[in-house]
Amino acid sequence: MNLTSARELKNLLDQYGFSFTKSLGQNFLIDQNIVDKIIRQGQIEGENVLEIGPGIGTMTYSIAQKAKKVLAIEVDQSLKDILAYTLGEFSNVKVHFADVLKTDIEKLAQEYFGDQPFKVVANLPYYITSPILIYLLKSQANISEIIVMMQKEVAQRIVADQSKKDYGSISVFIAYFGQAEILMTVPNTVFMPKPKVDSAVIKIKIDNKNKDVNIGALEKILRAAFGQRRKTILNSLSKGLGLEKSQIEAVLNSLEIPTTYRAENISLEEYLQLSRELIKNGGKDV
Ligand code: SAM
Repeated sequence: MNLTSARELKNLLDQYGFSFTKSLGQNFLIDQNIVDKIIRQGQIEGENVLEIGPGIGTMTYSIAQKAKKVLAIEVDQSLKDILAYTLGEFSNVKVHFADVLKTDIEKLAQEYFGDQPFKVVANLPYYITSPILIYLLKSQANISEIIVMMQKEVAQRIVADQSKKDYGSISVFIAYFGQAEILMTVPNTVFMPKPKVDSAVIKIKIDNKNKDVNIGALEKILRAAFGQRRKTILNSLSKGLGLEKSQIEAVLNSLEIPTTYRAENISLEEYLQLSRELIKNGGKDV
């Protein structure tokens, strides 16, 4: 079985009467080199792996040969028979048919992996890349590392630090959970059907070091700050959080953050401090 051969893929899809659903971000990999590279970078030998969106099982097939156990979550029920065929030989693979964003990841992973940590390896559906990452990171699941493919522009935003023009709320939010880096960029020619944009694979190493910060507070502060990024931080936080300017000003002064700064001038560490201080000053409503 060669799932990355465009001809074999077409035959398989025809045989099962499957047609692509564009709105589900179905762009299947047709290049074994890329699959192998992602898996090599993921260092999954003997690890537990969660895959989001297995499609016809192209990555799953290669992951299952190396990993200890694989749990794959796929929303499209019409892939059921194909996946039963392509992954039938593996006893260490479980496919769960559901929308990942409506799945209790912590519970499902606990049922399948027990208390052991797991890695997330996936070619994500591009229309919900950020929501999936945020959802996974906010779950209490025992994730050690995330290695995922996504639209190149989104990857650049995720890994951007304060010095880059792409720095935004998603960069800060992801940095809160760990270190993100781009492992490789991938041309659009390795997919069927071919998407309009190029892709990139990123790795997020989860470090869990900032757990004293209330994640809800950080999210609200980032939304307020970057939601009106042309305004000064004093104005955007006051408006976005519904707090008195004097209150925000006092906190900014105590942290030595100039009130005239914009969202992009503020570092992750400063956002964490703001979350701690505004929670202290603004109570639970922040
Ligand atoms: N892993 C396959 C590959 O690399 O060839 C397919 C990747 S394709 C980019 C994304 C996959 O995610 C599709 O199979 C699609 O049906 C699935 N998907 C889309 N939305 C989903 C959701 N909300 N929950 C779970 N899977 C989803």
